[in-house]
Amino acid sequence: MRTVRALQGLSRVLVCPCSPPLFVRSWSVAQSQRFSSSSAEKPMPGNSMFRHLTSKIKATGPISVAEYMREVLTNPVMGYYVQNDMLGPDGDFITSPEISQIFGELLGIWCLSEWMGAGKPSRFQLVEFGPGRGSLANDILRVFSQLRGALGGAAVSVHLVEVSPKLSQVQAQCLTGDQSQVSASEDEPVYRQGTTTTGLPISWYRNLDDVPRGFSIYLAHEFFDALPIHMFQGTEKGWREVMVDIDPDDPGKLRLVIVPAPTLASTQLIQADEKRRHVEVCPEGGVIVQRLANRIAEDGGAALIADYGHDGTKTDTFRGFKGHKLHDVLASPGSADLTADVDYSYLRRMAGATVACMGPVSQKDFLKNMGIDTRLQVLLRNCADPSTRAQLIQGYDMLTNPLKMGERFQFFTMLNHSRLTRPEPEQAKGGKKMAPVPKKGPAPLPVAGFSELGLS
Ligand code: SAH
Repeated sequence: MRTVRALQGLSRVLVCPCSPPLFVRSWSVAQSQRFSSSSAEKPMPGNSMFRHLTSKIKATGPISVAEYMREVLTNPVMGYYVQNDMLGPDGDFITSPEISQIFGELLGIWCLSEWMGAGKPSRFQLVEFGPGRGSLANDILRVFSQLRGALGGAAVSVHLVEVSPKLSQVQAQCLTGDQSQVSASEDEPVYRQGTTTTGLPISWYRNLDDVPRGFSIYLAHEFFDALPIHMFQGTEKGWREVMVDIDPDDPGKLRLVIVPAPTLASTQLIQADEKRRHVEVCPEGGVIVQRLANRIAEDGGAALIADYGHDGTKTDTFRGFKGHKLHDVLASPGSADLTADVDYSYLRRMAGATVACMGPVSQKDFLKNMGIDTRLQVLLRNCADPSTRAQLIQGYDMLTNPLKMGERFQFFTMLNHSRLTRPEPEQAKGGKKMAPVPKKGPAPLPVAGFSELGLS
């Protein structure tokens, strides 16, 4: 069993009380629509990602922040995620599943609870986006294995959407030992397949579209924050997009500029009633949410999205992390993680009425509703080793303390509408509804984690 490591000082949130002020100059300086990133650090002109980006910019002009982020993080040859295993104390940032096993265990209970709430369908796909080192899935699958009886013979399969070949290897090692094989051709939609150590079929994909249809519980933990954002600034001439350009005074450096004319993105992505002057929008996240909503509506299931986030209120959250410290987003591109808080109000809007949405609720509330206090007590009761006990308590504090990950980290869910309604009264012959009768069906189970009636 994975044990909790001593991680004080290593979480993203501890080193990030606020975002760096990227927007330091105002648009009103007529000749100077351009402004620099806040850091003095140079982006290492020898760096191949830097060369790749500058040749792109030289060829076509400034690139959007979204294109910059996409290239830096997921370029198939030199992207940060494609090249690195960046998680954990020796990497650039640490995440909740890496901090404490309890986190994944409670999410495992959440998945089971939603499967039960949906009437225990006989086939059940667990789909995880961006599984990192595989720790979350591993903890969930341990719960499934321990509660095999509750699953009552349902055919469970595991599906991972992961862009990084490097991380997919780490995941495969964690989840299958050596029981997985890569596909013969790189173009296969399923690029790796195997059997988990708990005996379930497991497959890896690059895109959601390749995951088979069917009842699924979708999990995305610290995934949406890694998707590319567009950045906009309100000016006296209207909304303008912020882009990445080469600094003409120092060609070894990149800088952020406000482009003078509207772009397709600046005309399409800003809400008419937007009040903020700096806005970040993640259209790729919106598209994934729409696809998830359609699948959940048609096939049944639920999605749980957990990330640093806000409800359409924050500005300037785009930031970099390297070695557990904030890092200039434009310096040494490809050597640091890039991230932006998730705008849950945008995701809710993109999901529309296709599904029922709940949240965001804070990580502290979600985990407490899921019974984290009880689970901690059980583990402590069964553990005599003082250092493991201290680590369990420290992990609990990191996850739930409002000053650490408890408040800023938030949970949001999308559910099939039937999940929240009582069964319909029976239809009379000829398709006519019978006269109103007291609804007899059992009340739907509460959605664990989002109300106090969770499975504690
Ligand atoms: N969920 C894990 C890892 C978070 S890091 C945890 O909480 O520990 C982000 C993960 O998303 C990595 O596995 C990264 O390779 C993956 N990822 C980033 N962009 C992606 C994309 N566009 N498609 C699929 N996976 C992506």
